[in-house]
Amino acid sequence: MKLLITAAALAMGLSALPATAQQTQFITIGTGGVTGVYYPTGGAICRMMARTRADHGIRCGAESTGGSVYNVNAVRAGELEFGVAQSDVQFKAFNGVDSFKAQGANPKLRSVFSIHPEPFTVVARKDAGIKSFEDLKGKRVNVGNPGSGQRDTMEVLMKKMGWTMADFALASELQAAEQSQALCDNNIDAMVYTVGHPAGSIKEATTACDSVLVNVDNGSVTALVEEYPFYRTAIIPGGMYRGTDGDTTTFGVGATLITSADVPDDVVYALVKSVFTNMDQFRGLHPAFAKLEPQQMVTDGLSAPLHPGAEKYYREVGLLK
Ligand code: GLU
Repeated sequence: MKLLITAAALAMGLSALPATAQQTQFITIGTGGVTGVYYPTGGAICRMMARTRADHGIRCGAESTGGSVYNVNAVRAGELEFGVAQSDVQFKAFNGVDSFKAQGANPKLRSVFSIHPEPFTVVARKDAGIKSFEDLKGKRVNVGNPGSGQRDTMEVLMKKMGWTMADFALASELQAAEQSQALCDNNIDAMVYTVGHPAGSIKEATTACDSVLVNVDNGSVTALVEEYPFYRTAIIPGGMYRGTDGDTTTFGVGATLITSADVPDDVVYALVKSVFTNMDQFRGLHPAFAKLEPQQMVTDGLSAPLHPGAEKYYREVGLLK
């Protein structure tokens, strides 16, 4: 289900009109579930653009969506101007490989910048006796909605481990924002979420009932990290969530902002400039942004070419030589 905020709803209707320099332009950023980090990320970017609207006149809205894969596809279809997407999804979509093989390469996909790290996060009911990813076998697991990044990451790991959906007692496809309640209602034993931390959804799952973060750390994970440039080992610090005092070891990707080569340079330039000239305020808008470094944001996890509007700004301020 899609939830639209007013500006986003307006933008959906108006983005089909030809844009002229005089006309107010609307842009929409596709995000994820409302209790994830993408949704507040889209909101934070739009807030920065609202601060600088006198300079560019663009109105920005953040739309809650099914996640990375949905966003990349919606940007490709011209339904959204921007989307947040996992670095692995960006790579596959641009090159048309793995889960994007059927639709082929997406040569118009463009990178804008990278954002926060996203560890692959498994949360299990404490009473389910799940201590590691391997223990998910035979359990009721929410594998993520099609269109989400976690579903994509989950399928990659399952394939590496030689698992199929039949290895679970139940494989549900609930949306990200629905899974914490399903966990606490005892409808599932575990949920997976490729997400920045702290995330509202994981807070909900660990405070509304007794649940724990689970290590995802085995030979298959090591092989994935060695094989693919966008996977890396990741630690979710102990004490971040109730019930998990020790560090959780897993692997992860990075969140990135993507757009299309069809989006005008001045629009992308205005968005990038709004965020980078207000970086301190931007960092303060979500704890997952605390360690963002401009230099890393213009290179990390970006496999599609930079959009020329973004590149222009990065060269102006010396972030790119
Ligand atoms: N990584 C998730 C996805 O690609 C979304 C995480 C979030 O919403 O913060 O679908």
